Parts: sequence; structure tokens; C-alpha cells
Amino acid sequence: MSDRNAPDSAHITNFIRNIVDADLAADRFATRRWGGAPGDAALHAAGVPDPAKIRTRFPPEPNGYLHFGHAKSVCLNFGLARDYGGVCHMRFDDTNPEKEEQEYVDSIINAVKWLGFGWEAFGQPHLFYASDYFGFMYRAAEYLITSGNAYIDQQSAESMRASRGTLTERGTDSPWRNRPADESLRLFHEMRDGKHADGSMVLRAKIDMGSPNINMRDPAIYRIKHAEHHRTGDAWCVYPMYTYAHPIEDALEQITHSICTLEFEDQRPFYDWLLERLAEGGLLAQPLPRQYEFARLNLTYVVLSKRKLIQLVEEKYVDGWDDPRMPTIVGARRRGFTPEGFRLFAERIGVSKADSWIDMSVLEECMRDDLNGRAQRRIAVLNPLKLVIDNFPQGHQETCRAPNHPQKPELGQRDIPFTRELWIEAEDFVETPPKGYFRLYPGNTVRLRYGFVVKCVGADKDAAGNITAVHCEYMPDSKSGTPGSDTYKVKGNIHWVSAQHAYRCEVRLYDRLFRVPNPGKRQQEHAAAGHAPDHHSTDLDESGKLHQHEEKIEHDWLDDLNPQAKQTIVAQLEPALKHAQPEERFQFERHGYFVADHVDSRAGAPVFNRAVTLKDSWGKAGG
Ligand code: ATP
Ligand code: MG
Repeated sequence: MSDRNAPDSAHITNFIRNIVDADLAADRFATRRWGGAPGDAALHAAGVPDPAKIRTRFPPEPNGYLHFGHAKSVCLNFGLARDYGGVCHMRFDDTNPEKEEQEYVDSIINAVKWLGFGWEAFGQPHLFYASDYFGFMYRAAEYLITSGNAYIDQQSAESMRASRGTLTERGTDSPWRNRPADESLRLFHEMRDGKHADGSMVLRAKIDMGSPNINMRDPAIYRIKHAEHHRTGDAWCVYPMYTYAHPIEDALEQITHSICTLEFEDQRPFYDWLLERLAEGGLLAQPLPRQYEFARLNLTYVVLSKRKLIQLVEEKYVDGWDDPRMPTIVGARRRGFTPEGFRLFAERIGVSKADSWIDMSVLEECMRDDLNGRAQRRIAVLNPLKLVIDNFPQGHQETCRAPNHPQKPELGQRDIPFTRELWIEAEDFVETPPKGYFRLYPGNTVRLRYGFVVKCVGADKDAAGNITAVHCEYMPDSKSGTPGSDTYKVKGNIHWVSAQHAYRCEVRLYDRLFRVPNPGKRQQEHAAAGHAPDHHSTDLDESGKLHQHEEKIEHDWLDDLNPQAKQTIVAQLEPALKHAQPEERFQFERHGYFVADHVDSRAGAPVFNRAVTLKDSWGKAGG
């Protein structure tokens, strides 16, 4: 709404924003009315001038969980509405009775809210279900039949496919193409009444079998499907095809800018044809919505197709949709990623018309940039080795103070106990230091961060020669923050936790789901690789063909899974972390950003997931 807070992305420009700017400047929507709910021309005519300057929509099919690609679309559509005094409709595109479930509806609602968006505007919610429009879609189909723009075809699926033609050859007319409208209407009614079997006939738009655009060669618009729908039950046994349903959904909802991914570009002529026919018949309000296409998000080191994500879950390559390795919103949330990080990502990658690949490091860097500003710092020893301070009195305890955030003194400090036995990282001790190693080795002096300066005096080993403990002596007058403590000049500064006080805890170190940028592709193709369009899963019946094509150039993408993507360790954490709240995020100093897992944590016993390391070390030695 126009009176909302100043948009945080008012500075962004992209080709879609340019289109919106031009439309508003030309007052293209001056006559738009809003009937208070989605509906036909009559409803909107009886309404008020539309209070929304623009209307966009986010229209997922509830057949899976939202992934990072959807996040791009969510940020784009809801962001536009927010910035232009409009409203973005949350619409479930649930016109396909199969594969759709309430579980997915709920998870999508939660994911969009989690990303920071909502659909309350002008005092009303804008959450819609395409299945609520089945009645209108049916009526619109009847109109197309009676106006000579649609017919019932009784060819088999194979002959329909064969007569569609190719890119270089025109299609051939169906023998049923010129049957009388009243005959088509009667058959259409019989279809609805359940008198015919699945696949025995379809309703087709009557456009042009010679069109260079195959999508205009009399596309099927209604089919018979004796299937239970998750919302309408068995009220219908005919269902609209996606390409027919989607434009109508947009028009009933008075969408101004219908933004979709590039693979729908070839559908735009049909989108316009259909809406123009229905507007001519007085069924739809003007001005009609317009479709604009943008490049989908292609992200390296993951897969972003529902089909593949479903396979990962069903075949148990991951622990579920919310596995922190998954590129789903629920997975990202458990991973410790933030909504702000996603919105920053959407801004940084922008919106364009050219397909390209975004490297995973861009997303990771957005998460770091967001978390760095607000995650409190804590100490965690991930690979613990005992350190004994030989000259520190048994049973004695000192209290050290550590800042919660180095750049934000207002976040305060916390106490950490220092005792004779500590845990340090095993990597922070070596017997024989390589060049440039400033941490512990016999004879060397380091500062135990926020604590004392210690000098290494030796180490214990077991029979196999493994280091079991490191011995040091401390300088009692070197405590951080006390007068004179800075007279000690040391090059090494290592972290530690008191062994007696440490919170021993499970920590999961997550990494990228795949080992290679383009799972399943020969890796040198990476730079040039385009996205094999993942067709909308509903009903474009080229699906089989597309997937076969993918398989030809691919080896098995599952072979590229990263076996190191999840490592579970037992770590020693500073005692304050025992009280971390579910979903509280921290920087573990020197290690990265971690979150208290809200699924597996118990009160007073959180477990932690690594969101991202401190630096982008992927692919580099020791990464
Ligand atoms: P998938 O291609 O993964 O199967 P989908 O397109 O079938 O996803 P929908 O539920 O139809 O999933 O998608 C809802 C919206 O999200 C659509 O408007 C679609 O354009 C958009 N979307 C899906 N994937 C991406 C992506 N990778 N990048 C940007 N937008 C996307
Ligand atoms: Mg799709």
C-alpha cells in the first residue's frame, strides 16, 4: 500500500520495474475496478476503482515444497506489489487433481510468510485457490464452444500428437474440427456428467493448425479425469489444462503483471488469444492482464526442480524436505539461513531476460553478510583436545568476559569461566610447527582469547603416538582486559572452553549438497549450459520428451551427491550455548554461523547446525 514504510528496495531497477513504471506513467490501469473478490466482468464492473495500483501473484502448484528458485519469484512478485502500492495474490494453482495435497499448501504458506511477505492488503486477505474458479472456467469453455472457438476432439492421444506437426511442418486438422457447436456442447456436458472415459475425448481451442507456434495449433483446454481433488472432492471429473486455467485465473483476479519464467514465452500468444476471446464475449473485465517472462534462477551445486527434489526425499538421499542440505525454504530455515539473506540475494541477482547460472557462493555470501551483522558470537571447540595449565591451581576458577558482538557493544558481554583444564581445537597444537604456524607448539606462547597468555611446555601421547593432552603454564598477570595484560606480545590467539563447564553437544556440519556445480552434466559444459526447461508439472504433454532429452546429455545426477554434505560431530561449547533458543543463530568464532536446530533441540539441550563457514573456502585446500 502506498502508505507503507519506505520500500527497502526502491533503488532497484530491472526490466520488469521499467514496464511497471511505464504502465503507471501511461495510466494504463486508470479504469480498473475491483469487485472485492476474484470474479467475472460483471462482478468487477459493480465494484470500486481498484485501490491496488498493480496486482501481481505468486501461483505455486501445491505439489511440493518451495525451493530457492521459488524464493526468487516470491521476492520479485511480493516485492513489486510492496514497492508500487499494489498487492500480490497468494494463489494456489491447484487445477490438477493429482499430486496436490494440503500438506504442501500449508508448507507453502509458511514458507512465504517466513520469507517476510504477506497477502493482507486494503483490509482483506488475498489468498486464493484456482480450484474455486472451476465453475467459471467451465462456463468460459461453453462460451468458446458456442462462439466457434472450441470443439470436442475424439482422436486418440497418439493421432492428436501425430497431427500436431513439427517445427517445420504444419499440423493437420482433426476430423472433428468442424463438427457443429451444439454437438460439441452436448459432448462437453456429457464429459462433465461422467458419461465418458478418461482420454476418450478432449476440448480443444480452435485456432490455427498452420501456426508457426505449435502452442497455437488447437491446444487441448479441458480433459476428462475421474480423480478426486484435494479441495473439490468428486464435484468434477473434467479439469482445465494448465495453459487454459492460468490466464483465466489471472484475469478473474485482475492481475496487472503476470510474471512467469522464460519457458512460458511461447505460451504468451495463447494467453492473449484466450483472454481476448473471453473479453469479447463480455466474460472478463478489461484491461486484461499481461504476461511477462523472466529468467528462472539456476543455482550451482543444487538441483531446483520439484521432480528431482521429490526423488531425493522419496529415495532417502536426504532426511526429508527440511533436511538442511535441501535447497528448500524449510531446509534453509533449519540450516540457519535467514529471510533477510534471501531478500538480499534476490536483490543482488536481479531480474533479467537472459538465462544464466548463479554460483552458490553468491547465496552463501548474502547469508554471511546478513548474519555477520546480527549473530552473537560464541565459542565452540569442534575438534576437542585437552589443554592442562600445570601452574593453575586445582579447583580455582577465573571469570573472563567476552563481547557478544565485536562491532556492537550494545549487545553486551558475557562471562566465561576459565579453569585448569580446557578444551582447545586439536589443530591448534603441533609438535613441530610448519613455517608461519603461530599457535601452540612446545616453547611457544599464545593468548587464550579473552583469557590468559600461556606457554606450551609439552604434550602427552598414548601408546599409538596420538596427542592426548597439551600442557601449558599461564602468566597470572596476563588476563585480558586487566592493566598491563597487553605487555605480552604474542602472535597466536586461540579459543577454548573450560572442560568442567563445557556443554558437550551434537553439531552438524553441513556443506553443499552436490560436489560439482552442475549435477549430472559434464562439468566443462557449466559455463555454457542452459536450463533444460522443467515444464510445469501439470499437463504439458511434452514432458516425457523433455526428460528423455535431458537424460541423453546427462550422466546420473545422483552420482554427484556430496557424501561430505553432512558430518555429525560431538563438540564442546561454551556453557551459555546450553540456553540457546530454537532457531537462535550465532557465529562460532573462527568457525562460521550456526543455528540451534528447532526440530531436534530439546529445552536446555540444543543441537546446532552449521549454516555457512566464515569464508568461502569451497574447492580450496582444506575447504
Ligand atoms: P519446478 O520447475 O521446480 O517444478 P514449478 O515451476 O513447477 O517448479 P510452480 O509451483 O509452478 O513450480 O512455481 C510457482 C512459481 O514459482 C511460478 O510462477 C514459477 O515461475 C516460479 N518458479 C519456479 N521455479 C523457479 C525458478 N527456478 N526461478 C524463478 N522462479 C521459479
Ligand atoms: Mg515449472
